[in-house]
Amino acid sequence: MNGPQIKLPPPVISNCRVLAYAVVDESVHWVDRQLLFRGDKSLGRVPRLAIGENIPNRIRDEVHIFHCDEHWEVLFDLEQESLEKAKARMERDYHGISEKWINANFSTEEVDAWIKEDEAQTIAEIGGLNCALCGRSYLDVDKMVSGKNGFVCGKCIEEAHALISASDKGDAA
Ligand SMILES: [Zn+2]
Repeated sequence: MNGPQIKLPPPVISNCRVLAYAVVDESVHWVDRQLLFRGDKSLGRVPRLAIGENIPNRIRDEVHIFHCDEHWEVLFDLEQESLEKAKARMERDYHGISEKWINANFSTEEVDAWIKEDEAQTIAEIGGLNCALCGRSYLDVDKMVSGKNGFVCGKCIEEAHALISASDKGDAA
């Protein structure tokens, strides 16, 4: 291994497909303009920058500049009108960053796979996603309705609805 490995960004940051990213190394000069605040503190120099576009529909050219830590966790999200404007804006704050941008070139498949995996991980974290009534997995049903303490599948809701309508009409046995 030659020196410390740089962790690459994920294909998706904050629901945006990553278009370009940059590692802010020592050759980049950060200009302290004190313009970006996180809470009541100036954001300061960040080690990673990424530019992303909204998923799934790109309605406008608008992009997000994500100011990140080494793990690509977002510290600050700055919207800009286009990729070019985003890069120009960052050059004003980080002199020399223009030379550092790397095009991400993530494919739609990679982005989709990442979103799916992230979803699965979220579901695993909350202890699975099964219907509280019939026990079916979210993978086996069309709809899942979330409640405060769990989920109910669309099929059970339909059945419950049919049962209630039937008893309202006095048809129930
Ligand atoms: Zn169910």
